[in-house]
Amino acid sequence: MASHALKHEPLDTYNLRLIENLHPSGWVNPEPARRYNLVVIGAGTAGLVTAAGAAILGAKVALVERDFMGGDCLNFGCVPSKALIRSARAAAEVRDASRFGVEVPQGMRVNFPAVMERMRKLRADLSPIDSAERFRGLGVDVFIGEGRFIAPDCVEVDGKKLRFKRAAIATGARAAVLPIPGIVEAGYLTNETVFSLTELPRRIAVIGAGPIGCELAQVFQRFGAAVTLLEVAPQILIREDRDAAERIERALVRDGVELVTECKITGVERRGTERVIAADSAGGRAEIVVDEILIGVGRVPAVEGLNLEAAMIEYDKQNGIKVDDYLRTTNPLVYAAGDVASAYKFTHLSDAHARMILRNALFFGRQRVSRLTIPWCTYTDPEIAHVGLYAAEAAQRGIEVDTYTQELAEVDRAVLDGETDGFVKVHVRRGSDQIVGATIVASHAGEMISELTTAIAAGVGLGKLGDVIHPYPTQADAIRRAAGLYSRTRLTPFVARMMKRWFSLTR
Ligand SMILES: Cc1cc2nc3c(=O)[nH]c(=O)nc-3n(C[C@H](O)[C@H](O)[C@H](O)COP(=O)(O)OP(=O)(O)OC[C@H]3O[C@@H](n4cnc5c(N)ncnc54)[C@H](O)[C@@H]3O)c2cc1C
Repeated sequence: MASHALKHEPLDTYNLRLIENLHPSGWVNPEPARRYNLVVIGAGTAGLVTAAGAAILGAKVALVERDFMGGDCLNFGCVPSKALIRSARAAAEVRDASRFGVEVPQGMRVNFPAVMERMRKLRADLSPIDSAERFRGLGVDVFIGEGRFIAPDCVEVDGKKLRFKRAAIATGARAAVLPIPGIVEAGYLTNETVFSLTELPRRIAVIGAGPIGCELAQVFQRFGAAVTLLEVAPQILIREDRDAAERIERALVRDGVELVTECKITGVERRGTERVIAADSAGGRAEIVVDEILIGVGRVPAVEGLNLEAAMIEYDKQNGIKVDDYLRTTNPLVYAAGDVASAYKFTHLSDAHARMILRNALFFGRQRVSRLTIPWCTYTDPEIAHVGLYAAEAAQRGIEVDTYTQELAEVDRAVLDGETDGFVKVHVRRGSDQIVGATIVASHAGEMISELTTAIAAGVGLGKLGDVIHPYPTQADAIRRAAGLYSRTRLTPFVARMMKRWFSLTR
């Protein structure tokens, strides 16, 4: 394994199976072809989808991965985090069971080692689809090792030269680290190590209340740890609207998370087995004593080690590889996809980028990133999902909007489920029913947002959504009801007068 190697621990049967699929111990890199149609560096979602798609179309493809095939999503991201979120939801349901008239006489206890084992098993079960062996079976030359450019049309890995007609950089991102005095000496967890825990820390400080920080803070709190969530901004999930983020703040606090916003950490110190965080906030200066620190302060693109200068590819350490609207880098032979080339870092976007590259790099496609409609979701409970523009963004672009908000407290299914603290909010271009953006806070907002994403992508107006029959009772019916709020505004005083007249004439 490479020197910077990421690790999977413990080395139980599930992780051994995972490693054997994603970084096989006895793997022998093939002899390179004379020239490849496509060389892909990085075997996360973006790289895998690009490589598989090109190979299936008949291209000669090389795929280079230095750590684990599957990248962040499978190994250290979406998959393990969502497995834990499911267990945490189960724990919360049992904890709150009496609200539904269900008694749990023995009380509730989370078996943390079992939760983690379940996660490791499911991750291993999902791994064959991303495995080196499967990709070899697809006809892809899989190289395990660190890829670096040595010329504008050549990548080197493991001492072998891979010449290419086109290349795709899909090297992803890694956890950003804050320059807090003492943090390195004190030791901390990131998404690359937290899923290797086998014992539940008693007290955890989560630094950064972005999506990853919020999801994991809630998870660990629900498992029984005492979680302190520290955020420098005045609200959590800074990208989201204040009213939406507030609902999630409320949910976290209800679960018992100690939330400190506008918090500036001045230093960290190790005292025996404890870690002591010195922080300034509105409450004054405080020392927060914990057993583990988890950092979730964002992701930085993985550009180091690629020797991009040799291929005349421009980049910067903060924003990653510079690409145009077609995902082409400053070297016209080389494209970039996924986290390494995008401000939005999501698996589904990496997948969409990969499909664009197949068309743009291998054929004469002209697919543009700016045309994509990109939804996202943070999987707290409740979830918060968004697509399109926020009202503030629309204002910045000079787009006037009308906003229709349907509270879940008025939606029967949400009432019956006991999940009323949420809403569906839809922005339409003023004077039309064209949807320009939407935010949903709901138990399964991630599922619900697809209806609005489809509407935006297909140019279906909010008025039309009001005509769509939704099964009763569902929480998605809130979307139809938000559309109903829009339709009611069509009943102007003039139209109302005309209707009245019509009915008086036809009585
Ligand atoms: C905790 C967490 C939870 C997340 N949850 C979600 C979620 O619920 N939904 C969602 O959409 N997104 C989620 N994400 C984000 C998602 O994981 C990423 O957007 C996605 O993995 C990006 O895919 P990618 O292919 O661009 O990069 P990656 O998956 O990072 O893959 C890049 C690969 O390139 C390899 N590599 C790097 N440099 C080199 C080199 N020089 N040579 C060879 N190989 C190299 C790396 O080892 C890696 O395997 C989450 C992320 C985290 C951390």
